[in-house]
Amino acid sequence: MLKLVLGDLTKEAANVEAIVNAANPTLLGGGGVDGAIHRAAGPELKAECQKLHGCAVGEAKLTKAYALPCNYVIHTVGPRFQGGHKREAELLAACYTNTLILAQQTGIKRLAFPSIATGVYRFPVELAAKIAVTTVKNYLAQEPTAFEMIEWVLFDEDTYRAYEKALK
Ligand code: ADP
Repeated sequence: MLKLVLGDLTKEAANVEAIVNAANPTLLGGGGVDGAIHRAAGPELKAECQKLHGCAVGEAKLTKAYALPCNYVIHTVGPRFQGGHKREAELLAACYTNTLILAQQTGIKRLAFPSIATGVYRFPVELAAKIAVTTVKNYLAQEPTAFEMIEWVLFDEDTYRAYEKALK
C-alpha cells in the first residue's frame, strides 16, 4: 500500500520500521531532513555513520535508529540537480531502488521516505515525485509481497500536491 502524509518524517517514525534519510555523501549530518533525523536520533547515530565511510550518490546504507521510535534508518544520497543532463533522473531512481533492496533484505515491511533531493539538492519536485512513484511502483510490481506499506512524508503542501499528482 502506498500512502502520502503531510508532516515531519521524524514524527512518523513511530508508525514504520524504518525511515529513509536524504543524506549527503559524508553521512555526517547536514541540514533539512538529515539534520532533523540526527537531532531526533541523538549522537549515537552520527557515531555509527562515521564508521560507514560515506555513501555514493544513488546508493543506500543502513543504521540503527537510536532515540527514534523506528528500528532503522536507511541513508541514501540523492543527486544534486544540475540541469538534468548529469544522469540525475537515473541516480534518483537508484536511490529508491537501492533503498528498497536494502529494506527488503533487512525484512523491513513498513517504510517512510522523505522527498529525496528536492530541498538543498534542488531537484524539481514534480519530476522527482514522478520518478519516486514510478520507481517504487515498478519495484512493487516485481516484489508484490515484500512490503506492507510504503509512504512519503512530505514537509510542505506544494511537495505533497506534487506527489499526490504523481500517484494518480
Ligand atoms: P536533499 O539534500 O536531498 O535535497 P533536504 O533535506 O534538503 O534533502 O530536502 C528534502 C525534502 O525534505 C524537502 O522537501 C524538505 O522540505 C524536506 N524536509 C525537511 N525537513 C523535513 C522533515 N523533518 N520531515 C520531512 N521532510 C523534511
